[in-house]
Amino acid sequence: MVSDSLKGRVALVTGASRGIGAAIATKLGLRGAKVVCNYSKSEEAASKVVSRIVEWGGEAIAIRADISSKVEVEAMVEKAVEVFGRLDILVNNAGILIRGGVLDDISILDRMFEVNVKGVIYCIAASLKYMIKQRYGRIINIASIAAFGTTSRNTTYYAMTKGAIITLTKRLAFELGEYGITVNAVAPGFTKTDMTMNRPAEELQAAIRQLESITSLRRVGEPEDIAEVVAFLASDRAGFITGQVISVDGGRIDFFSRSA
Ligand code: NAP
Repeated sequence: MVSDSLKGRVALVTGASRGIGAAIATKLGLRGAKVVCNYSKSEEAASKVVSRIVEWGGEAIAIRADISSKVEVEAMVEKAVEVFGRLDILVNNAGILIRGGVLDDISILDRMFEVNVKGVIYCIAASLKYMIKQRYGRIINIASIAAFGTTSRNTTYYAMTKGAIITLTKRLAFELGEYGITVNAVAPGFTKTDMTMNRPAEELQAAIRQLESITSLRRVGEPEDIAEVVAFLASDRAGFITGQVISVDGGRIDFFSRSA
């Protein structure tokens, strides 16, 4: 019988030190996966995520790698396989948001592209070496509803990088299906993490109130909301789902276009 248990599986979650990635890593660990928690700077926070998984009876390690460095990503994936013997699940969660659009310096787009797009490709390429041999893999990319044309200002370049992730997801699903590898994306709406919450309290409260008013479920997201869907996509229960993008946004209604 298919189950949501991830026992026997090995998962690599990028950007697992904080926010959505930390919630995903913890959830996968609790469901039985051995988890590699990647981080770039927050060593202490990543160690805490590892300790939490281990305290609850799971297995986890933290590995530092800047995903925008191909060399560091390759070393991380090799180390993960050296420690846990295989790699079944890759969650491409690490990402950065630098606010700006076409009236701003294009170097913003370059930096976000390095991490949000090329970083994801490096992680996938390094992992495929093992997944193709195993003829099994679950790749889950964290995109954003920004890619569909939300009306949030100053996020155009960011949205472009997430649009690239959605295209990558669909094209790879087709290319990798024959190896038993599924590729899906989760597109979160506003979720409470450092990425979104780091701003003056009054401004933040006003922003949240405004977002609640344009969300069907009248609340913004928690990292746990995203983690639950990722854990489903990582499990055998989602074995016949590939090339899909699941929005987890409480039913946002502020889209410039409904053509996505
Ligand atoms: P966050 O709180 O800012 O955390 C970002 C995580 O990514 C941290 O663990 C960070 O590690 C890691 N990271 C950043 N750059 C990295 C790099 N070059 N190499 C390796 N790790 C790196 O962000 P979040 O809100 O949880 O976002 C997670 C994902 O969800 C991102 O892809 C984001 O675009 C997407 N998303 C978020 C929202 C939202 O509302 N929060 C909405 C839609 C989509 P360190 O701590 O070590 O720096």
